[in-house]
Amino acid sequence: MNYRSSWMTAELDIFRETFRRYLSSTLSPQAHKWRNDKMIDREAWLALGEIGALCPDMPEEYGGLGGTFAHVAAVIEDLEFELPEMALPVAVHNAIVAQYIMHFGSHAQKQRWLPGLATGQSIGAIAMTEPGGGSDLRSLRTRASRKGSAYLLNGSKTFITNGQVADIIIVAAQTAPDQGAKGISLLVLEADGSDGFRRGRNLDKIGMHASDTSELFFDDALVPAENLLGGEEGRGLYQMMELLPKERLAIAVSAVASIERMVEVTTDYVKDRKAFGKPVLEFQNTAFALAERKSEALIGRVFLDWCIERAIKGELDQVTASIAKYWTTDKQFETADKCLQLHGGYGYMDEFEIARRFVDARVQRIYGGTNEIMKVLIARSL
Ligand SMILES: Cc1cc2nc3c(=O)[nH]c(=O)nc-3n(C[C@H](O)[C@H](O)[C@H](O)COP(=O)(O)OP(=O)(O)OC[C@H]3O[C@@H](n4cnc5c(N)ncnc54)[C@H](O)[C@@H]3O)c2cc1C
Repeated sequence: MNYRSSWMTAELDIFRETFRRYLSSTLSPQAHKWRNDKMIDREAWLALGEIGALCPDMPEEYGGLGGTFAHVAAVIEDLEFELPEMALPVAVHNAIVAQYIMHFGSHAQKQRWLPGLATGQSIGAIAMTEPGGGSDLRSLRTRASRKGSAYLLNGSKTFITNGQVADIIIVAAQTAPDQGAKGISLLVLEADGSDGFRRGRNLDKIGMHASDTSELFFDDALVPAENLLGGEEGRGLYQMMELLPKERLAIAVSAVASIERMVEVTTDYVKDRKAFGKPVLEFQNTAFALAERKSEALIGRVFLDWCIERAIKGELDQVTASIAKYWTTDKQFETADKCLQLHGGYGYMDEFEIARRFVDARVQRIYGGTNEIMKVLIARSL
């Protein structure tokens, strides 16, 4: 069966072939070290920038390749296949941070931040979640008070991907607390020049070990007024609502790629592994379990491709993105569990890819809006 994603192009084929080869030969061998360090080397970001995998959909005048969301999706898929350790950090950088700056930034803001994000000299992070809650974004408590030509940020964030290394952090904060959701704004904090900004611990997680996740603290942290994204206060919630579908789609892209990869590695494993004198694939339970997973992988892929097409055209809506995020990540975790089982005891060993994919899959149902929140959004459309 030869299925080809409708959004693929001959140009992307060439890019992806080089990219995958580079990942598997040069960067993937370093992943073990990064998992131990709980951090990805900065050189790897620069290498991705060099090869054109950072901000590939940004216009050339801002350092990108002038591509579309197809390029963003292709990079996430390839990373998920060859170097899953970088799939989340790069998705945050490409599919979230760069998107906010491109969509809502002024020309000057784009000129200031996008070229560095495209080369990997600047690493991006987005800080929405607070210790007091992540799902209820309207109640966030970090405050940004205007003082002359700057804002002073006060509060804290948690679970921030790339938080240990980020140079540019988009912070969601209240600029007019009395106006509730209408008082939320997005400020771009440049980590280097901001006194009063402090990175907290690199949090210990059960999976995603190479991706750093941090607490961030703001104690009169200085953000120049011109770093207000879009230049108008109170637009933050609207800006987040507009771009969350893309963020959620990016999570679905990695979920489906991971499902496909797990089916592939598990199929190889059960063809090779023998019990009772024959490959375990010849037990009907094993074959049926994989037949089900393979079917779901293809069904997920076709739906995902339809969503990617809509994102390329700028037509991906909130509900469709929520369906994609919730369904594919639930399936990813289910697939990880079933495929791990088919590996027997080896599946529980950290050195086996399926074991790592199992723990990494779990969080996909939580971040980017939990799958329960996805169902709340879908249910509102009933
Ligand atoms: C590894 C990792 C990386 C992350 N990266 C980032 C990042 O880069 N930037 C960032 O800002 N955040 C990030 N997050 C945070 C993530 O987005 C939040 O954890 C998530 O949105 C949930 O928020 P919470 O943890 O506060 O859970 P809560 O909001 O406290 O939710 C707890 C439980 O209640 C349920 N719940 C809440 N409200 C409802 C409701 N209305 N209906 C039904 N159920 C509900 C939730 O589904 C969940 O099961 C990351 C988290 C992790 C674990």
